[in-house]
Amino acid sequence: LVSALKMMGADEVYDTTFGADLTVMEEADEFLERLKKGGPFPMFTSCCPAWVKYVEEERPHFLKNISTCKSPMEMFAAVLKDQYARKDEEDGRTTYHIAIMPCTAKKMEAKRPEFQHDGKPDVDLVLTTQEIIMMIKESGIRFAELEGESPDLPFGMGTGAATIFGTTGGVAEAVARRVVEDKSKNTLQAIQFSGIRGSETIRAVTLPVGDRALRIAVVHGLVNAQKLLDDIESGQEYFDLVEVMTCKTGCVGGAGQPYGLIPVKQQRAEGLYEADRTALIKRSERNPIVTKLLEGALKGRTHQLLHVEYKRPDKA
Ligand code: SF4
Repeated sequence: LVSALKMMGADEVYDTTFGADLTVMEEADEFLERLKKGGPFPMFTSCCPAWVKYVEEERPHFLKNISTCKSPMEMFAAVLKDQYARKDEEDGRTTYHIAIMPCTAKKMEAKRPEFQHDGKPDVDLVLTTQEIIMMIKESGIRFAELEGESPDLPFGMGTGAATIFGTTGGVAEAVARRVVEDKSKNTLQAIQFSGIRGSETIRAVTLPVGDRALRIAVVHGLVNAQKLLDDIESGQEYFDLVEVMTCKTGCVGGAGQPYGLIPVKQQRAEGLYEADRTALIKRSERNPIVTKLLEGALKGRTHQLLHVEYKRPDKA
């Protein structure tokens, strides 16, 4: 894919998993902070723009529960534009950032006023995976004849934790890897087999963190998320952390992806877990470029660049 995109005119090709690692780091820190302060709980994940929109429009009293972390796409874009601003000025060029996403809702997210600066969007254009496949075909590029090429550095590196973001349970698992105190291989396996993975529409797991037993829920499909919200609201259920993906099976089943029935989407998810199994680095805090950025160029600026507060549209 990298070679094809370069043939089509991209100067640099990076990997969204880099943004996902940043999201894990920030989301885990925010979650630990909420544990210290005593809430508000549950903390809902914020990387699915369709979910955020639903809460804004239909259940705004839950907005305070949504993580303030930008999605991986928007975190990546904020860092890219920030890091390239000086380069652009020096070289007299303009960075144009195209994000390739499995998701049609990401087009809406990129247009939100929160992600515009000086009248320009952080992400200039969102193309879905379906659209990019069609463009590659139309340009006559033959995939089978292309040499494999890795994404560019510095933003082309992501860990196994970031890779599994694309499937239901992946975000919660990645954050759990970051917040558990025991970082041994056994703990990673305990998280994996806790019930956090799977296809049931609502999954609940309990994981020990310090002297606390954390209640984590994973839900996919908006109708199931609505039911979970009802149960939380009525006091029937309590959770500390809830991962919500609007699409069934998560982003592997996004509306921007090539058409496929549930078994095909599950195969895609299995492909992500396989990539995680063979990844040299499995935890986001071990991504050397992410940690270098957080300790360097982003130090003291994470709130400004990586976080956002969603408000009711009529109160924005
Ligand atoms: S779950 Fe669906 S709507 Fe949400 S970010 Fe993923 S692809 Fe987009």
